[in-house]
Amino acid sequence: MEAPVVGILALQGDFAAHARMLRDLGAVPREVRTPAGLDGLDGLVIPGGESTTMTLGIEREGLAEPLRELAERGTPLFGTCAGLIMLDRDHLGLMDLRAERNAFGRQVRSFEADLEIAGVPGGPVRAIFIRAPWVAEHGDGVEVLAEVDGRPVAVLEGDRLAISFHPELSGEPRLHARFLELVRARAGARR
Ligand code: GLN
Repeated sequence: MEAPVVGILALQGDFAAHARMLRDLGAVPREVRTPAGLDGLDGLVIPGGESTTMTLGIEREGLAEPLRELAERGTPLFGTCAGLIMLDRDHLGLMDLRAERNAFGRQVRSFEADLEIAGVPGGPVRAIFIRAPWVAEHGDGVEVLAEVDGRPVAVLEGDRLAISFHPELSGEPRLHARFLELVRARAGARR
């Protein structure tokens, strides 16, 4: 099968680290800044950053509706940190959950933890949290893959994966590999 083309929303935030990781895993990354950039994608990553700035960028570029159409076509999505916030009910409304921003306390700017994540074999994942959200509420269709302090920090709903932390910064490839499994399965079914 051809290498999947995976977009990374590149309005703001740490998109370059995602591009490197996806390339290392055999995908073709594409930075997306306009609606036309979404054409022909096999998957899309919404990176970490700052969710208010990202929301303004999405409005400015007219990306909200094209992103919803991409999701409706069944394209797998992967949101990390601010990207998880963008997917929630109060933002793009693409996952049946509500994210709590800066949930671990404003003073705790960042911390690291070793997390066991359902569906990610090979032992715990080193997870870097930076002013991270958690999932405050979610519907029955959302599977919780990992928690910190009893709060979901990794979730899966169909082909939409969302996590509170930054595997692209710790050089941890297994979450991106899991996402690419969703992407390849979906692209394989379509071709
Ligand atoms: N605190 C940021 C926000 O609320 C998210 C932080 C991150 O993406 N690392 O948008």
